[in-house]
Order: sequence, then structure tokens, then C-alpha cells
Amino acid sequence: MAEEITTVQTITPATNLLATIQEEIGVNANLCYQCRKCSAGCPMSWAMDYTPAQLIHAIRLGQTELVLNSKTMWLCSACETCTTRCPQEVDIAKVMDACKILAVKQGFKSPVPRVHKFNKAALRNIKWFGRMYELGLIGDLKLRTFEFFKDFGLGVRMFFKGKLSLFPSLSPGRTITTWKIFSRVAKKEKEHRA
Ligand code: SF4
Ligand code: SF4
Repeated sequence: MAEEITTVQTITPATNLLATIQEEIGVNANLCYQCRKCSAGCPMSWAMDYTPAQLIHAIRLGQTELVLNSKTMWLCSACETCTTRCPQEVDIAKVMDACKILAVKQGFKSPVPRVHKFNKAALRNIKWFGRMYELGLIGDLKLRTFEFFKDFGLGVRMFFKGKLSLFPSLSPGRTITTWKIFSRVAKKEKEHRA
């Protein structure tokens, strides 16, 4: 005979993370009704520790530590398939970016440090040259990861096929414009923190 239920347990989700994400990027993850279409279309979900739908659910439940320690947003390739598929128009790709930014801001170590290092190297590269200078990016990344010989043969083949230029394409106008964008973002971030 089934056991009689005598008490009702109420679960009250903590909403801080949900509210912070909504405040930062204007996306209401609470609209999610867990259809999992985002996860079904995600090309990276096989490598993630939580699928996009699971991560959104954890955000709704206020599982800050779980979310910000997760590999999921670091492995997201920003392809936006999830965002396109979501019937509730939850911009999941944007949520992934917000989670990465919050994790860094709040001092959570990336469980996929290579990706974090790549992001930093790519941003610095764009800031300096106004566009991607691949050989410079590779050099910066090697110094950050100490993986000096990883993909060495591939790099040499790409170089001889003309896919990697020896020198960056420099344009002072472009570099100044990029610097202005970076300093505007830094200013906005400072205002936001104040
Ligand atoms: S597709 Fe949208 S509604 Fe469906 S689980 Fe993903 S976020 Fe939720
Ligand atoms: S944007 Fe990220 S989470 Fe969304 S489908 Fe692409 S890889 Fe997956």
C-alpha cells in the first residue's frame, strides 16, 4: 500500500542569479518551460557537464555555484542554434556569455582554462591590431598555456599554404577605432560597478 503523504515540502528557489542575469542582459530565463529543444540542437552538448536546458533550469533554481563552476558556458561555441530553436525566445547564447562574465567577475576558476586563456589572447589580439592576427594569437596562446609544440605540424602546414601571415595587417584608423570601442566598454563597466 502506498505510504500516506502527511507533509508537504515547499521548495523556494533562490532567484538572485536569475535576477542578476535579467538585469545584466535583459533575458528572462524564467520563461523556459523545459522543452529541451535547445539541448537537442546544441552541437557542443556532448562535451558539456550540463546541457543548455539543464543550465537554464539551474539558473531558475538559483544554483549559483553549480552554474558558475560549470564547464557548459566555457564550451559554448556561440553558434546560437539554441537561441533560434527556443519557442520561448530565451536568448540562451547570451545567457552563456553572461554566465562566463559573472564567473570571472565573482572569481570562479574556469574548469576549462584553455578556453579562458584563448578568450583573453583573442581579445588582446583584436585590441592591438584591430582585427585577428593569427600568428600573434598563436604566440600569445602558447605563452599562456606553455603548450609550445601542440599542433606545431598543423601550424607549419597552414603557414606554407598561406593561411598564416607572417606580419599583421596594420591600419592606424582601424586600431584607433578598436581602442575607442575597448575604452568605451571599460568605462561602461566602471560606471556599472560604481
Ligand atoms: S528551448 Fe527554451 S524553453 Fe526549451 S528548454 Fe531550452 S530554454 Fe527552455
Ligand atoms: S550557442 Fe552554445 S549553447 Fe547554444 S547551441 Fe550553440 S554551442 Fe550550444
